[in-house]
Amino acid sequence: VAAAASVAERARATFSEAYMIEGCPVPVTASFGVAVLPDHAGDAETLLRRADETMYAAKYGQLGVNVYEPESSCRGIGRIGLLADVAEALQADQFFLEYQPQVSLPTGRIIGVEALVRWRHPVAGVLYPTEFIGLAEQTEFIGAITEWVLRHALAQCESWRREGQHLRVAVNISASNMHDARFPEMVARAVHDTGVNPADIDLEITQSAVDLDHATVHSVLRKLRATGVSLTIDDFGTGFSSMAQLRELAVDRLTIDRSFVTGMTREGRDALIVGAIVQLGRALGIETIAKGVEDAAVAATLFELGCTIAQGFLFGKPMPPEVFEPHGWATGYSPSGPATGGSQLEGQKVRS
Ligand code: C2E
Ligand code: MG
Repeated sequence: VAAAASVAERARATFSEAYMIEGCPVPVTASFGVAVLPDHAGDAETLLRRADETMYAAKYGQLGVNVYEPESSCRGIGRIGLLADVAEALQADQFFLEYQPQVSLPTGRIIGVEALVRWRHPVAGVLYPTEFIGLAEQTEFIGAITEWVLRHALAQCESWRREGQHLRVAVNISASNMHDARFPEMVARAVHDTGVNPADIDLEITQSAVDLDHATVHSVLRKLRATGVSLTIDDFGTGFSSMAQLRELAVDRLTIDRSFVTGMTREGRDALIVGAIVQLGRALGIETIAKGVEDAAVAATLFELGCTIAQGFLFGKPMPPEVFEPHGWATGYSPSGPATGGSQLEGQKVRS
């Protein structure tokens, strides 16, 4: 290990000075992962994989040279190693989608669903998007994951429509998708192949990293609009969301982050912020979707404030289609009725 690490350090040192390209200094960094036989693996394939995972950990943690540690589990720093598994996950259909209802507050009816990706990892168990999407976003894998999610969510939406359930479907898009010139074509192909009406598709963009000064983003937006899909700013009010984005992105909807919604009947300032966002949306002709609605008092307050669509555990947790379907598409929520205190729809797993 010591000899390998010292070779890696020497190689790394060769990058210590910036390269001069046409008179401009261009800094280059390199990350190294070290794994040795037989201490860290029993065969060549495992050895290379471990070295690769360890290299990603070095890159992510800016460690320079990193030596494999057997005890770093999949859920610890070894999470980075998950990236090595993404290609296989796509092949082996280890990803799956759960759907969470979006409910019209005036009628209590389910009008759409948000598709949320999960990963049934062979070693780590079921992983939630917060555990792997951020990592995937740092690589090209995010394009393939988004495409997988989009195609499966649209196919599900179309299959429900054929059964007589007309629902809008919201799909989460990463900021890096918005920087990918091939993305609109991928959306157009998915729409074409599944036959879904583009008006029923809602792309939820987490605004935080959408760089409005970037020419590619503008061209991607223009082409997405041309496909006929709707655009939503997700988790409005958090991160770097700004009024400029509301103006420039010309979105159809925005979702109000659950950090403002869930406790709004107890926290007066949250209610004021939610009210202001709803008013802003109305003035701009943008529909607002409140996320994280967990009790009927919040739903009632949202309705009074003029918010028309809500999503949250009150109406239903994210759930696989086979759990969703048998409930006849009712949430048990009635806008004028008494506080129901819970939902008829139960996801397989309660998450907070
Ligand atoms: P999001 O778009 O804000 O999705 C809603 C998240 O809030 C989901 O978490 C959902 O389980 C949770 N949630 C819904 N209702 C309630 C509630 O009443 N109370 C509380 N406490 N939580 C609630 P999940 O599934 O873990 O997803 C986390 C985030 O991961 C999503 O946040 C979304 O930004 C991202 N994500 C999910 N699927 C995808 C995907 O296919 N692609 C990309 N790029 N990102 C995804
Ligand atoms: Mg979302």
